[in-house]
Amino acid sequence: MKKEYFAIIKFPAFVSFSLLILTLIFFFIVLGSYHRLGLSTWGNILYTLLFIIIVILIGTWILALLSTHKKIKPRWLRHYLSWMMVNIYYPIARVFSRICFQKTETLQESFLYFNNEIVVTNYQGMHSTNMLLLLPHCLQSSNCKIRINNNIVECQECGGCDMAKMKALTKDYQIKAAVASGGSLARKLVNDTQPNIIIAVACNRDLTEGVRESWRYPVYAVLNERPKGPCFETTVSSAVINFAIQKFIS
Ligand code: SF4
Repeated sequence: MKKEYFAIIKFPAFVSFSLLILTLIFFFIVLGSYHRLGLSTWGNILYTLLFIIIVILIGTWILALLSTHKKIKPRWLRHYLSWMMVNIYYPIARVFSRICFQKTETLQESFLYFNNEIVVTNYQGMHSTNMLLLLPHCLQSSNCKIRINNNIVECQECGGCDMAKMKALTKDYQIKAAVASGGSLARKLVNDTQPNIIIAVACNRDLTEGVRESWRYPVYAVLNERPKGPCFETTVSSAVINFAIQKFIS
């Protein structure tokens, strides 16, 4: 239980520690320079700029923490937060994670959990027809005679893999669904459908890349299960997808 809890808080904890360390380093350098020489005009400008950057980083991070519990109304602010999450805070946490010899996999999972919290808080009350369920190609049985290229409608619902359950869910909720065999196809499918919300199923690595590349879209990430190893006949619980859909629809 303790281990699971740490896995969930790893990303926010690493970002918070990194920002704290950066701030302390900044003040030590400024105070050191000031006591030795005093500050030149250029020194003043440089340290003022660095101070502003640190204030922005900490301020935005506090906003990100708050947004896991309180909805942010301005759309531009949600986009700004999303951009900062994937382009600034995730790389910062990765560096810190490497310094601490932590596994990238657990950091990615923690990042996805944290991102899910923000997405759920900020994007509730959607109409299901604007929702996209993005599934990985490896969900399909390797024995299936049908080749599902990107449309789940092609599935004959024989029950040989979880595609059948996913297709049933899309019919029940009238949501769009697409099957992607790789990152570039997933990007194309997202750009073609322009969804209000994406529920994406994949492994931690693909989901993290997907969330980072599609930062303009709210992505709720669901990790697949890999009983036969990576990228081969993976599975996903329909109860988890059902639960995720229910979180967003009005
Ligand atoms: S459920 Fe659909 S995708 Fe899976 S094996 Fe049957 S027909 Fe193929």
